[in-house]
Amino acid sequence: MSALSPVSLGFHLQNRTYFPRAIDLPEIGYDEDETMRFFSGPMKDPLPDIYRVFRTDKRIHWCFLGERAPSLVRGMLSLRAHGENMPVDIVTGPANWEDDRRSLLPQILPKLKEGYCIALMYAQRTYHFNLAVERAEMIKIFPFCLDKLQALLRRMNSPLSEACLECGTQATQVCSRCKSGPYCSKSCQVSHWKNYHKQECAVVEQLKEWSSMDWSTYDSDRMPL
Ligand SMILES: [Zn+2]
Ligand SMILES: [Zn+2]
Repeated sequence: MSALSPVSLGFHLQNRTYFPRAIDLPEIGYDEDETMRFFSGPMKDPLPDIYRVFRTDKRIHWCFLGERAPSLVRGMLSLRAHGENMPVDIVTGPANWEDDRRSLLPQILPKLKEGYCIALMYAQRTYHFNLAVERAEMIKIFPFCLDKLQALLRRMNSPLSEACLECGTQATQVCSRCKSGPYCSKSCQVSHWKNYHKQECAVVEQLKEWSSMDWSTYDSDRMPL
């Protein structure tokens, strides 16, 4: 049995500063006023367009979080974030050579079902309005929709006065791994684990990690995924 330790109530996935809309992501190779909040200062040596430097001097943590939406074209990816749908490619590759970047969709699409979410840490926008990540490890797929992630986040913050998720009686304990719940007993924890929580637990741990981070100051020791 574990005591409930509530996470910061201020953290939420609709925060446009740390979970920006695609259009608000920094565009690779450009210094715009809005870009400055992502990086530690102006670009030192602006290069010709073809180089389009992937900046890494981050000032804050940020993440593009989107839910896979239905797409009219097979093999295309459409992501929904902040109420907007957009068709995108997700690319990675060399820091300074746009033409050598490669699509990650062949790896992503089989795992990212419709209604699932994808997190792209430190995503930047390309000239072609695709989303670029520095490395494939900066991507994580959640087997849940955005509403469900938000519900999990609310539940993490829910006080023990709430009813047991399995049977509805007065709760006294939380999942020993992710500290979410609540549950009235070990047996309710076990049956909720089998039916639902097995999938949720790792996602809740990720949300907890995010909730405990200070997103306003980039910390390279912090692996946010
Ligand atoms: Zn119960
Ligand atoms: Zn758990």
